[in-house]
Amino acid sequence: MAEKKKFQAIKGTRDLLPPDTELWNRVEQTAREVFGTFGFGEIRPPIFEPTELFARSIGMDTDVVGKEMYSFEDRDETSVSLRPEATASVCRAYIEHGMHAWPQPVKLYYTGPMFRRERPQKGRYRQFYQIGAEVLEMVPPNQDPAKNIGKDAAVDAEVIEMVMAFFARSGLEGVELAINSIGDRQCRPKYVELLRAELMKVKDKLGPDSQRRILTNPLRVLDSKLESEQGIIAGLPRISDHLCANCAAQYAELKRQLGMRGVPYAENWRLVRGLDYYMRTTFEITARGLGSQNAVCGGGRYDGLVELLGGPPTKGIGFAIGEDRLILSLEEAGKGGAALGRDVFVAWMGEQAQGAAILAAQKLRASGFRVELPPVEQKFGKALGQADKLGARYALILGDDEIRTGQWTVKTLASGEQAKMSEAEFLEMSRKGKRLSS
Ligand code: ATP
Ligand code: MG
Repeated sequence: MAEKKKFQAIKGTRDLLPPDTELWNRVEQTAREVFGTFGFGEIRPPIFEPTELFARSIGMDTDVVGKEMYSFEDRDETSVSLRPEATASVCRAYIEHGMHAWPQPVKLYYTGPMFRRERPQKGRYRQFYQIGAEVLEMVPPNQDPAKNIGKDAAVDAEVIEMVMAFFARSGLEGVELAINSIGDRQCRPKYVELLRAELMKVKDKLGPDSQRRILTNPLRVLDSKLESEQGIIAGLPRISDHLCANCAAQYAELKRQLGMRGVPYAENWRLVRGLDYYMRTTFEITARGLGSQNAVCGGGRYDGLVELLGGPPTKGIGFAIGEDRLILSLEEAGKGGAALGRDVFVAWMGEQAQGAAILAAQKLRASGFRVELPPVEQKFGKALGQADKLGARYALILGDDEIRTGQWTVKTLASGEQAKMSEAEFLEMSRKGKRLSS
């Protein structure tokens, strides 16, 4: 006989279970509502895409594409990858569906799983969930880029305002927003060269990761958490001193716009994003109760990404919230989901009573109550014990007596009170006492 094999979820993946999933649903529902008030519609892109899409957009030299993607060869020998993020898919969809012909800007949000082969730890998984949004706007031909700096900054500020509004509505605590500008194609390359030259001078004092990044992605060195490198990084040139006039103007306007919207922020010149396609505005939001994995949202502007993927010149700004971390933080603050509970447990005995119980359950469920209907007859004592365990509010007792008289026996489990009433009276009473959570 074959040995019994015990299956387990793959390392870095996990099952989300009730009652936790209540909180997941609540958070996603809040996102839908808040994003809706800002005029965003939902997009549901596929979970896998051609590997090339991510290689091109995120960049070959990033950790995400270089070593974290789940890629495999499809039967037709093309390489496909589980999405490590969704911005590339949204841009692909923008092009594929000719969204530049829709009223601009196009505002989309998404929720769903992402996949990165990282070392699993608290707040870091291989399948994790993001809630994100993107604003895409085709650039009209011959538009003077300097003319729209104020407009871009206002769009960025509104996107940030929306994330902050969502976090506030979710009840997230200890929320801190950090912003930065990482320049554009005009000024960033010069700054990166300067940074690279300065890093070469101190190369021996850096760890192996940063040493490697001097060549591949020197901006990422600024992101280093390594204690021994902090002193060196503090002395490096800052991009804010090297922004071109347009970038500097946009950054100043972003700060003014955030001020007008009452969004508090801190500037962090070391804030860069891990993905290649960002420019100008970058931001990150941290929250309480998460240890070193405390970033709950990362975002930024990515003008030019749609064009890089074969579309028309298009501006873009977006963010991705780490839903796993958001949930962790809410749970640490005691805002987790309550056990599912039931409004009514229908305790029935006798063949006639089963018919009445089924009808009662149907009516109650149609009115939105959470009802438990035991599949087989139980002694009332046992039924009431089970009702208690399930956290039911009322036990509806249906036996021969109740069927004969048409009067239901209703027990309020918390108080132990028991009363006889008609079906209509019970519906009326339970409607009044209906839980807010249900
Ligand atoms: P980190 O520096 O924490 O690795 P990142 O810069 O790679 O984050 P982004 O690609 O900007 O993250 O993704 C946005 C958000 O998604 C992050 O702020 C984080 O909350 C969440 N996130 C990213 N990777 C993971 C992961 N492996 N597990 C859980 N959440 C994640
Ligand atoms: Mg990462």
